[in-house]
Amino acid sequence: LTSAIGGGRIAHVDVAQQRRIAKNEALARDANEVIDEAHSSGEKRLLGVFLCECGDPRCDRVVEITPGDYERVRSNPRRFIVQAGHEEPQVETVVEVHDGYVVVEKQGEAGRAAEAENPRD
Ligand SMILES: [Zn+2]
Repeated sequence: LTSAIGGGRIAHVDVAQQRRIAKNEALARDANEVIDEAHSSGEKRLLGVFLCECGDPRCDRVVEITPGDYERVRSNPRRFIVQAGHEEPQVETVVEVHDGYVVVEKQGEAGRAAEAENPRD
């Protein structure tokens, strides 16, 4: 499996762990899809409360972001919103830093898993 990750940069990370992290994030993302639909029926510029999409199953933090911004992030299936400090440098790269949250992009196996779990496929 390690050889299938490609790139080599994160080949040392346990694939099962990456999949577990991706699974947790996919669950948060599924919940946020429902939240997004609720917010989208209202004013898109108002801040909505979304769940942190980090890989920690015990995480109960939220991220305040407008539905418009959430849509923009979610247009890339490898990108997730997480509270600042909740990023997992082993499997993802911070691509945007905002007030109170960051946008991360999945790499390697975690990225592929995120795409496979994309509820918008
Ligand atoms: Zn979190």
